[in-house]
Amino acid sequence: MPKQTIRDLDVNGRKVLVRVDFNVPQTAEGEVSDDRRIRSALPTLQDILARGGSLILVSHLGRPTGEPASDAPFRLDKVAQTLQQLIGREVSKVDDTVGPHAKAAASNLQPGSILVLENVRFNKGEKKGDPEFAKQMASLADCYVNDAFGTCHRDEASMVAVPEQFAPKDRAIGFLVEKELRILDTLLSNPVSPYIAVMGGAKVSDKILVIEQLLARVDQLLIGGAMTYTFLKAQGHDVGKSRVEADKLDVAKSLLEKAGSKIVLPKDHLIANKPEAGAETKVLTGHEFPEGWFGMDIGPATIEEYTRLIKAAGTVVWNGPMGMFEVPAFAKGTIAVAQAMAESAGVTAVGGGESAEAVERFGFADKVSHVSTGGGAFLESLEGKQFNSLKVIPDRA
Ligand code: ADP
Ligand code: MG
Repeated sequence: MPKQTIRDLDVNGRKVLVRVDFNVPQTAEGEVSDDRRIRSALPTLQDILARGGSLILVSHLGRPTGEPASDAPFRLDKVAQTLQQLIGREVSKVDDTVGPHAKAAASNLQPGSILVLENVRFNKGEKKGDPEFAKQMASLADCYVNDAFGTCHRDEASMVAVPEQFAPKDRAIGFLVEKELRILDTLLSNPVSPYIAVMGGAKVSDKILVIEQLLARVDQLLIGGAMTYTFLKAQGHDVGKSRVEADKLDVAKSLLEKAGSKIVLPKDHLIANKPEAGAETKVLTGHEFPEGWFGMDIGPATIEEYTRLIKAAGTVVWNGPMGMFEVPAFAKGTIAVAQAMAESAGVTAVGGGESAEAVERFGFADKVSHVSTGGGAFLESLEGKQFNSLKVIPDRA
């Protein structure tokens, strides 16, 4: 059942507490270095303002420890400034999450105005899911919207206990969460075939549950990235100095057995004499690595095969870069997969921290159907987990 969305909320003249995910990457100087998560929340924020509501925005940023000096870079001032530039309206910010200052700022809000509260994790009640803290925060507003997909897998106060303080009719999801859930529904329940999953990244151990879930649904699962070498080693190949998770060989073996021919491993590799820029590289056909060499990317024949399969797919889900794409010499496989998804006529979704960063960096973010704003939340959704933060939002009547 679809969830109640902001379309179902009467926001005119009301104060809307929106839990957003403004946990953005920052430079060493604390500037916002990538504003994608802020931009992704704009449709929801603009809709509420256009309908006469006012906004109280709640987010976390980074991992504050409770030490005011070391927590200073995690204050939300720079985020509020970035939002002000993007939304083209004045944004005020209060240096508190709850309490008299927050209360005063909230009660003075006029329709169409925007208030950003301080980093919600500055209050210890947030992590603990403290109901007392939740009550205080909820008392600032008339209704609640969850548009923080990247945090939906967390049970923190602002995600679960705060919405519980509002009447069910006054809780809703925003446009971003709605879009993320719609694409996940396609991936989990209504994929158009052929359905192709592409999995890569650093470690197979992070992705075992996702791989198991996807194997039950997809037609083929294409493997790349460092996890390749754990699979190859499990098959008995000598992978040189490539990254291998020695304690996951059994798991890799049993996944291969269960998957039959669904799992497709690279047929060639880009190998290097050291895992860094400036290395000597060559293409290895087959899987017997020369001594001392590292597998750094999928090879050209694999690129050709994966590109063909992705382009012909009805649905593609991709998590995990095909190689160490941060080094240009090892980025070809990742770029090729991103490009094939961009050129595929099917539904194409990318999720995962580095995967999303790669499609952005190489210029394909606007050419795929969806780039998830949630790394952990996206993967846990694919694992089939149900989140408490969404259970508290009622289904549409
Ligand atoms: P995501 O964040 O998209 O879920 P992961 O965190 O699983 O992806 O993995 C991303 C990292 O995997 C990248 O930083 C990349 O450098 C690394 N990686 C991919 N292939 C290799 C490889 N062959 N050797 C070493 N590291 C690799
Ligand atoms: Mg990652």
